[in-house]
Amino acid sequence: MAAPKIAGFIGLGNMGSYMARNMINKGYQLVVHDAVPAVTSKFVSEGSGATAASSPAQLAEMCGEKGAAAIISMVPEGSHMREVYLGSDGVLKGGPSKSTLLLDSSTIDIDSAQQVEKEASKLGYTFMDCPVSGAVPAAKAATLTFMIGGPKFEEAKTVLEPMGQRFFHCGPVGSGLTAKICNNMMLAISMIGTSETLNLGARMGLDPKLLTDILCVSSGRCWSVDTYNPVPGIKESVPASNDYKDGFGTALITKDLGLAQTEATKSKSATPLGSISHQIYRTMCAQGYGSKDFSVIYKILSANDSQK
Ligand code: NAD
Repeated sequence: MAAPKIAGFIGLGNMGSYMARNMINKGYQLVVHDAVPAVTSKFVSEGSGATAASSPAQLAEMCGEKGAAAIISMVPEGSHMREVYLGSDGVLKGGPSKSTLLLDSSTIDIDSAQQVEKEASKLGYTFMDCPVSGAVPAAKAATLTFMIGGPKFEEAKTVLEPMGQRFFHCGPVGSGLTAKICNNMMLAISMIGTSETLNLGARMGLDPKLLTDILCVSSGRCWSVDTYNPVPGIKESVPASNDYKDGFGTALITKDLGLAQTEATKSKSATPLGSISHQIYRTMCAQGYGSKDFSVIYKILSANDSQK
């Protein structure tokens, strides 16, 4: 009988809970941890067969004992990721096995990834940045795209395969995040453009469903219109059809646009639409939409329909 495949998973939120579930579905035994103990126990009690760890250090220790292939993390920001690996109760304190890959899939700043990689490599560990694209529906369907930075691409890909469909080796540690930050700036801009367009059409009397059908086969086609449509009721199982809940939080895309602006400043790149988009999403956060899916921009733009 083949030896069981073992991995650790840290961060069981909107994305991580589905990603971890797909690892289990493909035969992995998982050790799991989330900063919120109730989230960890819910995941364990839902018949996942996973074992709970009370901290990243304990998870690393358990993974070390079991000879885990990897520890995967999926947390919101760079500060959380640094805490997970470098904190007083972090992964590096738990002493995982040297052959266990440390794979972070969060969308965070490049400096944090490089800092953790530096500390991890001093101790003989391999840390790689492996951010994903595809949002919650792709996390659920195991069709994520992984953008991977670091030295052991083929080994990392083998571990990540249960959760994704496409895997790109972008270069050294940090380069996966470079690709991800660029993608999300484009996504943020296109979601605003899509919402403006569908709202304009609706206010001119065109059914948003008809306009969507046209855009999906015309030159305006993009992911925001054909897969993640922001108008309630046009696509099933997208956040717009669920009161903009459980998707990609406006606070998270605002964070990603902040990352893009930092990198644009460092590289002296002109990103006028990225900059305006950042301000628009930041204003939405200030108005209390931070935890709603970012496609809620459509609801905000269409809120003055009564003034037609
Ligand atoms: P989320 O807020 O739903 O989940 C994050 C989880 O991490 C939470 O359960 C939280 O308790 C846990 N956490 C936070 N700090 C922790 C720590 N120090 N130790 C252990 N657990 C900790 O976020 P999400 O939507 O799952 O996104 C996670 C990351 O993936 C973010 O960087 C986000 O930008 C990126 N991302 C999200 C989407 C999406 O559509 N939601 C798509 C692609 C990438």
